[in-house]
Formats: sequence, structure tokens, C-alpha cells
Amino acid sequence: MNIIAFIILLAIILDFLLNGLADYLNLKRLRNEVPEPFKGLYDPDRYRRSQQYLKVNTHFGWIAAGFEVVVMLGFWFGKGFPLLDQWVRSFEFGPVISGLIYMGILVIAKGLLSLPFSVYATFVIEERFGFNQTTWTTFLLDLAKGVLLAVLLGMPLLAAVLAFFEYAGNNAWWFCWIAVTLYMLGVQFIAPTWIMPLFNKFTPLDDGELKSAIFAYAGSINFPIENVYVMDGSRRSRKSNAFFTGFGRHRRIVLFDTLIKQHTTAELLAVLAHEMGHYKKRHIFQGLALGILQMGIVLYLLSIFVSYQGLFDAFYMPQKSVYAGMIFFGMLYSPLGFFIGLFMQMLSRKNETEADRFSAETTRDPGAMVAALKKLSMHNLSNLLPHPLYVFLNYSHPPVLERIRALQG
Ligand SMILES: [Zn+2]
Repeated sequence: MNIIAFIILLAIILDFLLNGLADYLNLKRLRNEVPEPFKGLYDPDRYRRSQQYLKVNTHFGWIAAGFEVVVMLGFWFGKGFPLLDQWVRSFEFGPVISGLIYMGILVIAKGLLSLPFSVYATFVIEERFGFNQTTWTTFLLDLAKGVLLAVLLGMPLLAAVLAFFEYAGNNAWWFCWIAVTLYMLGVQFIAPTWIMPLFNKFTPLDDGELKSAIFAYAGSINFPIENVYVMDGSRRSRKSNAFFTGFGRHRRIVLFDTLIKQHTTAELLAVLAHEMGHYKKRHIFQGLALGILQMGIVLYLLSIFVSYQGLFDAFYMPQKSVYAGMIFFGMLYSPLGFFIGLFMQMLSRKNETEADRFSAETTRDPGAMVAALKKLSMHNLSNLLPHPLYVFLNYSHPPVLERIRALQG
């Protein structure tokens, strides 16, 4: 076993163990007593249900993650990568087409293996806890649309990246960087109008108290909006949410229909103020800039490693290729990606606190945001007391009790 194989294997095992430890600590922290700001609000039976929900999801996560590691290691050490490569090469297509086939087969196989888990999560776990609204028709249509989008949008980009690394020599990485950046911006630009409507219905919010309150508030913070949209989130789940998407003239504020049903106008306004806060505090721009920077680093490192012999030896590959190099580099990159991910999540948690504060200050109603957060976490059966290690590894938002404390402070 060479050093590259050792690093990748160690990363896979450590990642599995670390997440398992965080899960375990998270479960050990569960208490029957409802924590302070939720006392009297949270029905004890429902609170126990939220803990049950966490347990069921954690145990299921272990099975799914364990299965993935076993399959991955089996494929690797069973010499699956070179076997597949031999077969693909036997058709004697060029390097780009061969790359698309090779990667396509791996992606499809991964998708098929995870499909039963996704079916179980939706139709058994979410169903059992009363969240699921997805019908089999919706589920299968989502799958078909997802595959179609991957083929129409993903394949041309992948072909371009493969071609650059195949033919553009030392310039490949920054050619790719420009192409991928333009592509990401383009997709974000068309997503609200072209892609998201494939999956959900977006209707402009009806005239009325809520709409006038939103427009009055947006005017008060100098935030130009054309409209607010309601999304039929209830088509898939009873869970609720709100988000902000797109940029320029195409940007949209979206409220789930499930959210509108459960909250007062003041609470909805507080949630929207939080979303607008992300924009006003330039978090959205910051996220985009960091994403582009990270892409540059990944592509530069890829250009160094894509033809490194040790990488191919680690996976028993007799012949080098750009496409296999990309896959193997992806695995070698995962430890660095892990640390970058931790940093990005830390930043995200800080931004969430800032957006909460923006909402509280500009609506002059911190109580509304607190009430909204309480309702949201009870409704979605969120874990109120996650373990700090679990938060550090997985949370993009601070735990709800921390957010409430910050808003009250
Ligand atoms: Zn937020």
C-alpha cells in the first residue's frame, strides 16, 4: 500500500469514526425534561417524539454510512476501478467520451445503491413521524427530473473540464476555473425561473395583511423586492422553511406554504427579515466569492495531482487517465475538504447569528423571531440540545437555544 492509499483509507476510517462518535455523544445528551424556554409550550409527548426522531435518524444514518464505506472499500480493494476502466477502454472512444461513460457509470451505481435508503427515509421514517407528503408519483418524477437535469446541465460541464485537462496543458486549471465559475453563476441565475419550477409550484403571495407588511418592511430597510413567492412545500413534506434565491432582477424570496399556515404575520416578517439580513449583510455575496475561491484551489490542486503516478498506483490502475485521476483526487482531497467545510460552517453559524440580530433590530421585535424559532423547531422536531461536537461537525445554524439566548440578550 503506498502513501496515497494510506492517507485516503485513513481519512475514510477517521471520518466514519468521528461522525459515529459525534452521533453517539449527541444521543447520550438526550434528556426527558423539556429545556427552559420551551417549558409549558412543548407538549411532553411531542418532545419525546422529537428525541425518538433523532434516535431513529441516527441509527439509520449509521446503517447507510456503514454500507457506503463497505461498498466503497470493497470496490476499491476488489480492483473495481481498473476492471471498469478496462471495459470502458475496450470501446475505444476518445478520452472525453470514455471519461463521461466511466464517471457516469460510477455516479449511476452510487445513485442506485443509495436509492433504497432514500425510499426508506421518505416512506418509512418521515411517514412514521407524520412529515411525509410525497407520493410515489412525485418521488419517481423527482428522480427522473434529477437525472435529466444531471444529463443536460452536468454532462456538458464535465465534458468541458475533461477536455481542458486533456488538451490545454498547464493552462487547464484556470481555463476550468473560469468555465466552472461562469457556469455556476449561470445556473444560479436561471435556477429560480427555470429549474426550481420543475420541482415546485411558485405562486406570488396574495394581496393582504402579510404582503403589505412585507413590502412596508422591505421599504423601511431599503430592500427592493418585486414580489414574494409561496412554494408548495407541502407537496413533499409537512416541514416548513423560507429561503432566498437567485440574484439581480431574478432574486426571489420564497415562503413555504407550510410556514405561512403555522405562523403569525409578525413571525413571518421576522423570518423574512432574517433572510433579507443575509442579503444586506452581504452573506450571499460572501458565500459565492468563497465558493469560487475554493473551486480555484481544488482545480489547481487537481492539475498537480491528476497525472501523479502514486494516485493511480493506489487504486491499482495500470493506465493513467484524466477522468480516473479526477475521481481519485476527489478522495485524496477529502481531508482538506473536511477542514474547509468546518471553516465554512463556522462562518455560516456566525452569519446566521448576524441575520437574527438584523431581523431583531430592523423589525424592533426580537420576540417575534424567538416565537418563530420556537414554533419552527417544535414543528420540525429539531434537536434542542445537540452535543457541541455534533454542532461543530454538522450544523450550518447555531442550535436553537443559542439563537434564542442571543436574540434575548
Ligand atoms: Zn439564515
